Amino acid sequence: MKRKEQSKASRKTAGTKTSGKRAVTLIPGDGVGREVVSAALAVIEATGVGIEWDRQVAGMNAFRRFGTPVPDALIESLKRTRVALKGPLETRVAEGWRSINVHLRRTFDLYANVRPTMNFAGVHTPFNNVDLIVVRENTEDLYAGIEHEIAPGVVESIKVITARASRRIAKFAFEYARAHRRKSVTAIHKANIMKLSDGLFLKCARAVSNNYKEIRYQEQIVDAACMRLVTQPESFDVLLLENLYGDIVSDLCAGLVGGLGLVPGANYGDKGAIFEAVHGTAPDIAGKGVANPIAMILSSAMMLDYLGHRAAGDRIRGATASVLRVGKVLTRDVGGKASTGEVTAAIVRAMSRG
Ligand code: NAD
Repeated sequence: MKRKEQSKASRKTAGTKTSGKRAVTLIPGDGVGREVVSAALAVIEATGVGIEWDRQVAGMNAFRRFGTPVPDALIESLKRTRVALKGPLETRVAEGWRSINVHLRRTFDLYANVRPTMNFAGVHTPFNNVDLIVVRENTEDLYAGIEHEIAPGVVESIKVITARASRRIAKFAFEYARAHRRKSVTAIHKANIMKLSDGLFLKCARAVSNNYKEIRYQEQIVDAACMRLVTQPESFDVLLLENLYGDIVSDLCAGLVGGLGLVPGANYGDKGAIFEAVHGTAPDIAGKGVANPIAMILSSAMMLDYLGHRAAGDRIRGATASVLRVGKVLTRDVGGKASTGEVTAAIVRAMSRG
């Protein structure tokens, strides 16, 4: 029965007519996902950019409805639209299915995860000059999911690093730096210990850096880089990391600028992209209407840039920065008392003024 319902949904998706508007897959996600994705939809609507949303479920919601966390209809929709706005998805710790995020990134070869992390006036943090771009390789490393038990009490997780993936993420980071007039790219590694895998990653980054003489290339061991990030974050610009270090360091960087509620993200491939906040489902605050919608709203601005609506993306970024600067309507993670809906309404009002 569930299968039948699912394939009916797939047929409907595949046959959806576009009406001159760009089709985009919308995945509300789990936990705070619905709350923050609704906020992003409200600000996109306020820009006037017309989007034909193809709403799909994934993760826990999909599992409850269709008996699978990745319904065929979702995959078909992504094949058709090639662009998605996505809320966070729950992945159980040490049990359950493998991460759907990792699955989608690998299935659609969305190899570059980009997380711009910067200070906002009005959000008080120990630093005022953080302006970093985290570029994380998205398809391999320990996230390849090759794990097995070789004997009771002995397990192996295999770290996969290839020259192809390392070269293309390094090229992506340098191209990004060039396009956005960034001064340096720092490759972060642990090649003193993982001489072969991280050694290969570094070798590829060095080779690629030779084609970008105007951009300073640096390397730093991941532990020392973490120390420097929390003492001199202004000394970094673009960070180039493998998958696992990139995942950890992105949350660290979010902490530098006021928390996970503020940092957007995008997963880019050669043929498509999925836009999502850095944060997860935030189960501790889900359903309470207090999640900060800004990370998701800024992710939607990145999506509008990607779709060729840069001015609309700038309007969203400008309005968001002004709401934070004024500081009257803020969620509690950044020192206020406002609800998700109140912050969203304040950003929409600021857009109509600006
Ligand atoms: P989390 O990011 O959900 O939460 C960490 C902390 O940050 C919590 O205290 C939470 O309340 C806070 N927080 C997160 N987003 C916030 C927001 N918008 N506004 C205010 N506070 C916010 O991380 P977690 O608790 O480690 O993970 C929970 C679940 O999310 C797990 O199942 C994990 O696998 C999943 N996850 C999904 C994604 C994704 O879908 N891209 C990313 C990270 C984690």
